[in-house]
Amino acid sequence: MPERMLQFIRIDQHMPQKRAAETRRADFDEIYGDFDPSQAAAQASRCSQCGIPFCQVHCPVSNNIPDWLKLTAEGRLEEAYELSSSTNNFPEICGRICPQDRLCEGNCVIEKGFDSVTIGSVERFITDTAFQKGWVKPIKPRAERAQSMAIIGAGPGGLAAAEELRKLGYQVTVYDRYDRVGGLMVYGIPSFKLEKDIVLRRWKLLEDGGVRFVLNTEIGRDISFAELRARHDAVLVATGVYKARDIGGPGSGLDGIVPALDFLTAANRIGLGDSVAAFADGTLNAAGRDVVVIGGGDTAMDCVRTAVRQGATSVKCLYRRDKANMPGSMREVKNAEEEGVEFVWLAAPEAFMGQGTVSGVRAVRMHLGLPDASGRQSVEPVEGSRFDVPAGLVIKALGFDPEDLPTAFGCPDLPVTRWGTLRVDHRSFMTALPGVFAAGDIVRGASLVVWAIRDGRDAALQMHLHIQNAVQTAHAAE
Ligand code: FAD
Ligand code: SF4
Ligand code: SF4
Repeated sequence: MPERMLQFIRIDQHMPQKRAAETRRADFDEIYGDFDPSQAAAQASRCSQCGIPFCQVHCPVSNNIPDWLKLTAEGRLEEAYELSSSTNNFPEICGRICPQDRLCEGNCVIEKGFDSVTIGSVERFITDTAFQKGWVKPIKPRAERAQSMAIIGAGPGGLAAAEELRKLGYQVTVYDRYDRVGGLMVYGIPSFKLEKDIVLRRWKLLEDGGVRFVLNTEIGRDISFAELRARHDAVLVATGVYKARDIGGPGSGLDGIVPALDFLTAANRIGLGDSVAAFADGTLNAAGRDVVVIGGGDTAMDCVRTAVRQGATSVKCLYRRDKANMPGSMREVKNAEEEGVEFVWLAAPEAFMGQGTVSGVRAVRMHLGLPDASGRQSVEPVEGSRFDVPAGLVIKALGFDPEDLPTAFGCPDLPVTRWGTLRVDHRSFMTALPGVFAAGDIVRGASLVVWAIRDGRDAALQMHLHIQNAVQTAHAAE
């Protein structure tokens, strides 16, 4: 029976079933179950079909949320899928890992006093259903075009661009230094947030649609950037940001202090069935250790929760500000707390203790001072407040900066901003080098999957316009 809309008064907000913390601590499976069609319809029917949908305004890919919610409520799932996939290349991925509390759902204005519509879970349900029913088909361009496009980086930005360009009939080759497609969706984000099959099936679909992948190939090392430019009519740089911010201080060079992404990548590789020497020898394995994670962002949350699942003896997260001021999503903090992680707010490391290998962190209490020019409260150490935390493994999750791409690519003309991100014209997505475009984290700095998708889509359109202009100019000159 199709549901009518505006049911928020009658129907309460329900997320898909969340597995009990005790069970989910024991494996790396996703923590949320699936909606069944009647639950999805009921939850979608809570939407009040706003005239100005703030959910859509705050969705980076401008999903037509009220319309696909209505179609879901009416049981018209194939149409809901068509609509949802027209603005988002990977709706089932965003439905799982967007920080909805800061984006669509956080801006759902259903009515004061009522909980938001569970937009992300419905979005995920629509496309999961589409895959089950066989509605998701490889790209079939209406006509082939001769021009070839190179994409460096098979993360969400590169993949979204690849799909859009292939739809337009271009010959698309994606180069990646890794052995699998997906970028941080495969090697960064843990599988309890995003199971890897979900990403890998997109790889197969893109290949079936004619996108060519050249893996285990680092541009700047295995193929020069100049060679790549010569091979293709246009190039998109979507290489992400990977240089981990470091921490200094006495003892910071001890063994057992590791960067977050090394730890997470090893865990993801183990989950994928790879053998990882640094996991086997314990370097990147939390089992049986007291683990201290330093940082308060989503990467830190992924590390603490991975450490719990690996069987750490204890897991603490040290963050120099308080809970209200942490950058990580509150939903992830709650999940981590449920799973047994201890948060030590307003605490910053001063030194690392140990002989050869770390055995503890010396920390100092912080207090929040007056807001600085950016409006963010400064943090200052509290005099005489030092304390020690035992640690057999310390994970540094302090954020990422871009690598030095002009040097890595042997291309000093590639312009960068003062943060090291690539400088592009924000309308054309083109760098100062003709035919070289850039998108995703390498332009924005560390951001979100959904923003990379948005940029990839926009950059693909601009690459198309660039090629078409060149074709027209060539015709005019004939
Ligand atoms: P990436 O995903 O980083 O992909 C870049 C690709 O380029 C990689 O595959 C890399 O191998 C390749 N590459 C780099 N240099 C070269 C080269 N020279 N030659 C060939 N290939 C190259 N976002 C969310 O929305 N939700 C989350 O829950 C979330 N969790 C995260 C957890 C962690 C631990 C991290 C680190 C990030 C998380 N993010 C999350 C952020 C999100 O993953 C990124 O914003 C997004 O993946 C950026 O996409 P991208 O395509 O720009 O780059
Ligand atoms: Fe919300 Fe992300 Fe989906 Fe947009 S893409 S509707 S922000 S979950
Ligand atoms: Fe529906 Fe909420 Fe979006 Fe309004 S803001 S259209 S109630 S999902």
